Amino acid sequence: MAEVLVLVDHTDGEVKKTTAELLTIARQFGTPAAVFVGSNVEAARPRLAQFGAEKVYVIDNADVSDYLVAPLAEALAAVVEQSQPAAVLLPATPHNTEAGARLAIKTGSGLVTDAVAVEGSEGALTTTQSVFAGSYTLTGKVKQGTPIITVKPNVVPPSAAQASATVVPVEVSVSDGAKTARITDRKAKEKSGRPELTEAAIVVSGGRGTGGDFSPVETFADSLGAAVGASRAAVDSGWYPHSSQVGQTGKQVSPQLYVACGISGAIQHRAGMQTSKTIVAINKDEEAPIFELVDFGVVGDLFTVLPQATEAVQKA
Ligand code: FAD
Repeated sequence: MAEVLVLVDHTDGEVKKTTAELLTIARQFGTPAAVFVGSNVEAARPRLAQFGAEKVYVIDNADVSDYLVAPLAEALAAVVEQSQPAAVLLPATPHNTEAGARLAIKTGSGLVTDAVAVEGSEGALTTTQSVFAGSYTLTGKVKQGTPIITVKPNVVPPSAAQASATVVPVEVSVSDGAKTARITDRKAKEKSGRPELTEAAIVVSGGRGTGGDFSPVETFADSLGAAVGASRAAVDSGWYPHSSQVGQTGKQVSPQLYVACGISGAIQHRAGMQTSKTIVAINKDEEAPIFELVDFGVVGDLFTVLPQATEAVQKA
């Protein structure tokens, strides 16, 4: 079986859940091979092996890690040349979408972005995209070259399958023309002690109904060990950071449990959370559209309901 390349999403060798998801998808139609950019592959190897990576192509080259996008595309093109893979899967981020597009041009291949499913067999892959806030589902097929596909997070549950994760160093020579934008500083995001929004099993989100006071939302989230999300109305009002926005123009989450507090359920918000396994809403308007998609709904004031819910969880 041909290899399926998976670009590893990591911070200092700490592999993100999206990588485990992509390796799980890759196993369905080929031999998963991870592509690791950085110097600390040994930190990443156990998790890559755990999710089925037979090989780990390592690009340990400052010209790739210290510059934006274009050198990564050149490096990926070198790995594609070496591996002749059935497909290349990348976590769907703005950075990877651009890298994928550049790679597609370099390799004369077709590109699919923001896929929510990749199915089929080698040479006959189909991709699914959800567009216009989930109003339409597109099925596609790359007809030229190597399918290059960016995949949204949380579209499959990661499943483990031990493999060898054999390290294969890749020599890359980056052209001067690709080194146009150098990264001069990297700042780690302040740790909140809460799980990462896109990786959390439970997400509690607040909207305009909080009136800017997220403390009951945060306290309830902490009682459940949940991440905190926000609607765009809350983010645009400056009540919560943009990085916490859930929706069409924010993050896509698909936790086991999503609790929407004081959120009306606009289509653009739904686009980011409607695939959650269980959805609960607390809203004082019983006509709020969010109640159309919930599994459980509470009609009430979040400032009354959330402290009671927190107390109940803490007692349990
Ligand atoms: P509102 O719609 O104002 O709803 C507030 C809700 O809180 C109401 O239902 C109200 O009954 C309830 N409420 C009020 N007080 C209380 C209380 N004390 N207790 C309980 N309930 C209470 N939105 C996103 O969220 N994410 C996106 O990514 C996104 N992208 C967009 C992209 C585009 C191109 C556009 C045009 C819009 C986008 N939006 C997005 C905005 C979206 O259309 C809505 O405006 C937004 O989601 C509304 O946020 P909200 O539900 O918090 O506020």
